[in-house]
Amino acid sequence: MNTLFRTLITCLLILFSTQFLCSQNVSLKKVEPSNWWIGMENTVLQLLVYGENISNTKPTIQYEGVTINSVTKLESANYLFINLTIDKAVKKGVFDIIFNTDSGKKLVYNYELKPKKNRNNINQTIDASDVMYLITPDRFANGNPKNDTTEDTLEKANRSSQDGRHGGDLQGIINHLDYIQELGVTTLWLNPFLENNQPKYSYHGYGISDFYKTDSRFGTNTDFINLVDLCHQKGMKMIMDQVFNHCGSGHWWMNDLPSKDWLNQWETFTRSNFTNIVASDPHVSKSDYDLFTRGWFDTNLPDLNLENPFLATYLIQNSIWWIEYAQLDGIRMDTYPYPDKYVMAQWVKTIKTEYPNFYIVGETWESKASSLSYWNKKEANNDGYISNLNSVSDYPLYYAIVSAFKKDGDIFKIYETLAEDFIYGDASNNKIFAGNHDQGRIYTLLNEDIAKFKLSMAFILTTRGIPQLYYGDEILLKGDKPDGNLRKDFPGGWALDKRNGFAQKGRTAQENDARTYLSAILNWRKTAIEIHKGKLMHYQPINNIYVYFRYTDTENTMIIINNSDATINEFGLERFQKTLDGYTSGTEIITNTHFASLKSLKVIANSALIIKLEK
Ligand code: CA
Repeated sequence: MNTLFRTLITCLLILFSTQFLCSQNVSLKKVEPSNWWIGMENTVLQLLVYGENISNTKPTIQYEGVTINSVTKLESANYLFINLTIDKAVKKGVFDIIFNTDSGKKLVYNYELKPKKNRNNINQTIDASDVMYLITPDRFANGNPKNDTTEDTLEKANRSSQDGRHGGDLQGIINHLDYIQELGVTTLWLNPFLENNQPKYSYHGYGISDFYKTDSRFGTNTDFINLVDLCHQKGMKMIMDQVFNHCGSGHWWMNDLPSKDWLNQWETFTRSNFTNIVASDPHVSKSDYDLFTRGWFDTNLPDLNLENPFLATYLIQNSIWWIEYAQLDGIRMDTYPYPDKYVMAQWVKTIKTEYPNFYIVGETWESKASSLSYWNKKEANNDGYISNLNSVSDYPLYYAIVSAFKKDGDIFKIYETLAEDFIYGDASNNKIFAGNHDQGRIYTLLNEDIAKFKLSMAFILTTRGIPQLYYGDEILLKGDKPDGNLRKDFPGGWALDKRNGFAQKGRTAQENDARTYLSAILNWRKTAIEIHKGKLMHYQPINNIYVYFRYTDTENTMIIINNSDATINEFGLERFQKTLDGYTSGTEIITNTHFASLKSLKVIANSALIIKLEK
């Protein structure tokens, strides 16, 4: 009797739940990526489908060359992950993905396979022939005051707060591309421009709330495409800043995660230890490693769990989608060592499979060359790990630059840092810089001494590596921590600004001096093959004077950096005779001064000579 009763109840429950399912609302809100391309090397594609109870539907596709391999439901009923095979021979076109419900209702998504663009006519890599110009988009120029505050985002414009949104946007960058090109840089790197729908402190861009959408306060995806097209028309390149380690707490999936393990979750809020070296430390404890890689970057920056293969695939495809959609020339990956390092290496490998020469630089904030080299090896490290990156951010050299050129600094610090280059797979692709959005302005760190500022610039533009400048450094923008203070608005970027730093007459004499100096080196550098591809030979600094050569079989440039307060009227070049052999004269490229003899030179205190040698 009891058993019969139970069976009856169970039957009723099943009947009820089936009825319930049939009457459930089903909707389709998102399919990501929203389109894909034909002719890709990787023939597998994962679609994330989001919509109310979408997991209760059965998707079907009728298109020659496209097959559904599997359909996976995770914990939330509102997601489906469809794994497709797209044959290499598939034709471009649009097909229906039909989501069939139990009640016979059909939801339809039109999926487009576009032709892959031919990238042969645009630059395919970024190397030491390039110089990057890093822009914080909110702080550069306001090209469209109408989008400073938008309806679909929470934080409204407030230019009076250094942590607020100031209204800079993609159109502002477009409006000043000529200024940027005339400066002599070749490549733009923008801090992330994707949507950051955070209630506050969202301007920096590192709290992404939609990986496929330009923040409406910066513009639209089409605006970004236009910017990239304009760059390419001018022979310039674009690097996109991407972030896999975390998203913003305002991300659209935060209230309805596909699964609990989409994020690294803790009982109570747990911050990363931010100790990069644990990712390469052979003696690391599991708890330190877990804290580093699974701890949250901040309370409003949840930690993404890349060990979830659906999330890993989602992000890797997102990266490739942006490369193909916007025809990117490079990617700068934020906090490269923080997420699962094996997934990150797989990400690089997957991109390189599609685009073999594609430039990827990892943000690798390591203070020691030995730790940095872990991420920059041609062969596997002792633990078998290889990052596959072709460029890393050279923080050891950055710290040496600040140390060497600050008041009473010793340039030996730079010499001994470069002497450690043997530890890298290839240091010539290291991204080198005297500042970025995380550091005090170099002009400020060098005590607003323009002579020392010039030395730092002369150095990074002539030593090995790919130089990167930070917007406004060229006009001596000032500022130190906190961050909002070192990411000040470029003067003249806003219509009501008191002065226009983009124009010569809007700048002070000293600012023009700095910009002219930089521009002279940058524009010379564009065709200086010995700087792009040449070897570096340096001589041990004596009395804070550092001499080095960049040379190929046919070209040779001598750089003399006098970092001391003493002017030497007759600085003898005998010590460098071996490298000078065959060269009899030279032209200093900043001042265009010709030297008819190379026996000795006047070397002014705190100044640099960049002398193109002649036979
Ligand atoms: Ca604006």
